[in-house]
Amino acid sequence: MRGVVAENVVENATRNLYIETYGCAMNLADSEVVASIMADKGFKTTQDIKEADVVFVNTCSIRDNAEAHVWGRLKEIKHYKRTNPGLIVGVLGCMAERLKTQFLEKEQIIDIVVGPDAYRDIPQLITQVEEGHKAVNVLLSREETYAEITPVRLSSNGVNAYISIMRGCDNMCTFCVVPFTRGRERSRPSVSIVHEAIELYKQGYKEVTLLGQNVDSYKEEDEAGNISCNFAQLLEKVAQIAPDLRIRFCSSHPKDITDEVLFTIKKYDNICNYIHYPIQSGNSRVLNLMNRTYDKEWLKKRVDRIREIIPNCGLSTDAIAGFCTETEEEHKDTLEMFEYAQFNFAFMYQYSERPGTLAARRYADDIPAEVKKRRLQEIIEVQHNISKKLNEAEIGNVHTVLIEGLSKKSDQELRGRNDQNTVVIFPKEDLKKGEYVKVLIERYTQTSLWGRVIERVNKP
Ligand code: SF4
Repeated sequence: MRGVVAENVVENATRNLYIETYGCAMNLADSEVVASIMADKGFKTTQDIKEADVVFVNTCSIRDNAEAHVWGRLKEIKHYKRTNPGLIVGVLGCMAERLKTQFLEKEQIIDIVVGPDAYRDIPQLITQVEEGHKAVNVLLSREETYAEITPVRLSSNGVNAYISIMRGCDNMCTFCVVPFTRGRERSRPSVSIVHEAIELYKQGYKEVTLLGQNVDSYKEEDEAGNISCNFAQLLEKVAQIAPDLRIRFCSSHPKDITDEVLFTIKKYDNICNYIHYPIQSGNSRVLNLMNRTYDKEWLKKRVDRIREIIPNCGLSTDAIAGFCTETEEEHKDTLEMFEYAQFNFAFMYQYSERPGTLAARRYADDIPAEVKKRRLQEIIEVQHNISKKLNEAEIGNVHTVLIEGLSKKSDQELRGRNDQNTVVIFPKEDLKKGEYVKVLIERYTQTSLWGRVIERVNKP
């Protein structure tokens, strides 16, 4: 896994920042906040590490191999520090929060360690390093949302942008390191979210994704502590900005997807009919061990309810193979849940014990690696067949697609996504990114739909 590297231009910038981002969309959004903070200190971003005065690696702790990639990358960065001793190297994000000063002990090249809630302190930390000290700030906050910082859009196609609406998580799923690395849940004021979406729309963006660890539990409170805006109401406020601004959101926790959210999605054509529905497992005992607060039957009923209110809703999921003590029968429940829910696509992993999590403290990681691997393969196979079948059924249907740019394989083809978040590819003709088009689907692969444009439209 190589991180995402990005570039922007800042007027009067005198120094260069190279920032490499690993992990989830929240990390990408955070790197955009960091780039904004650094721009105020006179840095512009570069995609060439050799030009950099400061190198930041924004890290992910979600799985062991995500951390292993970062350690490998830091070894490579050592080379640049040798040829440029004045280079400042910083580690940001979840690994910084998890390992804190251990980073400085383990890897000599690192000058700065900054946790996800301390990015405002980066200019001051850089000054400390310039004065000859190592610098660390991994304080978590109960308030920080970076609400008024306008992110610098890195690697942007000018069509889609992320808007962070909340930070942290209070759920304490036993396998997850996030509550320890990103702290307690807090929501950003709705007025600043709507303002950011309006500004993006004015700049020509056509799609915003509202981001958070658990967006459905978004809540803004008034002075008396009453909820003045919940997630459904926030969705509605953003949907009302303009009918041609498309809205997505990520990530959800099944327990918090309310009927009010579902009816709001149904009410607005510009809120995509797509929900990420991370089940993690299909077995009630394992779900209880994971502290997911729902069971198999509840998951099925909720899928039924989503389909009842939004019949054409695209669904995706996350699943973990081989969680502590999972039996073969329990694993089969996950396969059965996949068949039941008919997810369009899924993110599937073997269980990877994370130090400090509740699962690491409470349960033995006792499923042999080869069994985890085989179970994961079985889940992947079931999902691949479902994806293929669902995509095949789209032949002859027409989908509204927002054009995002050239397809990865050909400069004669464009790509975009439909309402359900499936990639759609079609001939370029004289079409441009940012336009909405109706595409007649003619063929498919397991991951994409292919077709031809039959009409240009003004909105989703
Ligand atoms: S909801 Fe669970 S899995 Fe998601 S970030 Fe919070 S603790 Fe982790």
